[in-house]
Amino acid sequence: MRIDLHAHSNVSDGTETPAQVMASAARAGLDVIALTDHDSTDGWEEASRTALKCGVALVPGMEISCRTAEGISVHLLSYLHDPSHAGLLEEITKAKAARLTRAERMVTLLAEDYPLSWDDVIHHVAPGATLGRPHIADALVAAGVVADRSEAFASILTSHSRYFVQHYAPDPALAVELVRAAGGVPVFAHPVASARGRIVGERTYREMIDAGLLGLEIEHRDNPEEGRDFLRGLAAEHELLVTGSSDYHGAGKPNRLGENLTAPEVLARIEDLGTGTPIVRPPSRRP
Ligand code: AMP
Ligand code: FE
Ligand code: FE
Ligand code: ZN
Repeated sequence: MRIDLHAHSNVSDGTETPAQVMASAARAGLDVIALTDHDSTDGWEEASRTALKCGVALVPGMEISCRTAEGISVHLLSYLHDPSHAGLLEEITKAKAARLTRAERMVTLLAEDYPLSWDDVIHHVAPGATLGRPHIADALVAAGVVADRSEAFASILTSHSRYFVQHYAPDPALAVELVRAAGGVPVFAHPVASARGRIVGERTYREMIDAGLLGLEIEHRDNPEEGRDFLRGLAAEHELLVTGSSDYHGAGKPNRLGENLTAPEVLARIEDLGTGTPIVRPPSRRP
């Protein structure tokens, strides 16, 4: 069983439609794929329909952008939650609106120094999609300012850049609580991805675990090897699930589907614990 529990479509900052992600998952020889768009579940329906046709099983998911009181960014994966849970929906709706204002402010700052307009950015965003820096990167690529998203993130769009603006994001412990309340399985995404920015310390792990955190995404290309041992220790100590995933973004990132995998026993636990929405399985994949 080849199981990849982290992928994005153009419902957020991936470059493929949910249907195309399902087809790519089948082509990559995956049996199970999770669709985990940033702050949105809008891709679930299309993904469910097409997963069945492609012969892959779909784990409906989401990746919630959070920020600690010290200002450290945390990404929380949620699997199998109820997408209509009011508390969770309120937070992601608030975050999505804030992302729009934030992108507008970033573009205003960028337009002082680069040939970039709001229309250039919107051109790269599917209707209703969760707006992020990757879309601004796409406009900078189209304008010939940078070669690709990676170059944009290494320079103009880093969180240290003068063009960077923050957006509202819930505290990670609150997000964990809401995911659990919605019947979902919260898993801390790429927890020690130090190249992306500051990483959290013991206190945040404790708060998230106390709030009901159920897993750690340890096998992820952004987690340096040194940090993985620490995470394995933490997982053993607190009986947390350990996942491995690609964080596929289509052509938007070098990450390839299936480059990291999650064990079938772990998926079985996620399926037991997740009560908000079921895994979508094509007939041939029903046990
Ligand atoms: P934002 O949510 O707008 O703050 O943008 C962060 C998103 O940008 C993350 O979810 C990543 O998917 C994406 N990202 C971060 N670093 C890179 C990179 N080097 N290349 C492409 N995409 C990236
Ligand atoms: Fe992303
Ligand atoms: Fe992430
Ligand atoms: Zn992701």
